Amino acid sequence: MQYVSTRGSAPALDFEGATLAGLASDGGLYVPAEWPTFTPEEIAAMRGLPYAELAATVMQPFVGHALTPERLLELCQQAYGRFAHAAVTPLVQLDERNWLLELFHGPTLAFKDVALQLLGLLFEEFLSRRDERLTIVGATSGDTGSAAINAVAGRERIDIFMLHPKGRVSDVQRRQMTTVKAPNVYNIAIDGSFDDAQAMVKRMFGDTAMTGRFRISAVNSINWARLMAQVVYYFGAALQLGAPERKVAFSVPTGNFGDVFAGHVAARMGLPIERLIVATNVNDILHRALAHGDYSAGIVTPTAAPSMDIQVSSNFERLLFDVGGRDGAALAEQMRGFEAEKAMRLTNAQREGAAALFTSARADADEMARAMRWAWESCDGEVIDPHTAIGLHAAREADLPAGVPVVTLATAHPAKFRDAVERATGKRPTLPTRVGDLFERDEAYVELPGDYDAIAAYVAEHAAPSR
Ligand SMILES: *Cc1c(COP(=O)(O)O)cnc(C)c1O
Repeated sequence: MQYVSTRGSAPALDFEGATLAGLASDGGLYVPAEWPTFTPEEIAAMRGLPYAELAATVMQPFVGHALTPERLLELCQQAYGRFAHAAVTPLVQLDERNWLLELFHGPTLAFKDVALQLLGLLFEEFLSRRDERLTIVGATSGDTGSAAINAVAGRERIDIFMLHPKGRVSDVQRRQMTTVKAPNVYNIAIDGSFDDAQAMVKRMFGDTAMTGRFRISAVNSINWARLMAQVVYYFGAALQLGAPERKVAFSVPTGNFGDVFAGHVAARMGLPIERLIVATNVNDILHRALAHGDYSAGIVTPTAAPSMDIQVSSNFERLLFDVGGRDGAALAEQMRGFEAEKAMRLTNAQREGAAALFTSARADADEMARAMRWAWESCDGEVIDPHTAIGLHAAREADLPAGVPVVTLATAHPAKFRDAVERATGKRPTLPTRVGDLFERDEAYVELPGDYDAIAAYVAEHAAPSR
């Protein structure tokens, strides 16, 4: 399987190359050169498979020759063996039409674990094959940082530097990063905002003094391997609800458009999906783009669902590429316009292509709280987190043909956002036992000024060169 850049000029890479590269060198994102497909019979044959086997089956066409089927299955078993629930991503029924797909049974309580636990193993596999080392540099507003650190802590060929804005992540989120004791983990609290942290990380990718010495890579959802791992649970949930004979809809709490793009990939592979509902909070650039063709970034408004407080959704570019005729040169031009103006119009082909599968909905703070209360009061005490609540609100509003079930992706454990859940429902969720002593463990992090040279000097001092 070959991977091409959405902006058309970076070299095509195989799965191993695309996984290690993260971002393409022309600023685009890697997508498969064509979509592998399964027949209805092949999909039906996946019914009842244990999660790791389902994962290996769905992902094998994307991995191609980079791993043998046996090795891919071993890595899946290792990654998903670390989940607290034997079903890995269990499906829970709320009422006749609504279901929750619980994606938060991994070590750090958000769906990011599903992909990052596997990505950590893929990195290690490919690096040892090449006898190379990797320096991961990331900025986090919470969930990605802890999931990435957990996935690579203690791995010999990887150093991870995670920047978080000092005082602006929740206690649970910070402690999930700073209490991980491993020689290759470096937590950095910076003076400044998440956007400042993110800007410094991006600058490092373009700093040849750094990239000449270190193989710097990314763990956010611009990395194709993350999206690939997320395609699996769409298959798992739809199969349980009657696919391929019956169509299923999904409602997806969306920020960077990674998780819901994985649903688009599942549909392209032949899974019969009725609708993908893109659920946003008041940071609704995606809702405006899908409803009106207006993709224009505003100012980020902080909400109780911080992982969706995003104005520019990196993975939307993958959709625009795929439904807009796969014309890398034209998309590069369109994205240059967006980067200059912070706004662009979708083409007719992009709008119509997206409308075939996607709808969107936006939930404000009241609607989010109401969805949390509905689950608590009407579904026998079901406790859901603020992100999931936004998805559930959109699912309950959705206009769908009779008999089509809607699966809302439950992206975080409610205990990760205890204050917001308690405000809406009066119920304070308890932390699961697997993170139970989080508040007794010692924390380790350095504080650095929000200054690029200080960060770069710190990374250069502590990271190991690529070879
Ligand atoms: C990251 C995250 C999201 C958004 O997912 P995207 O793939 O960025 O759209 C939603 N909910 C939670 C809890 C998250 O951590």
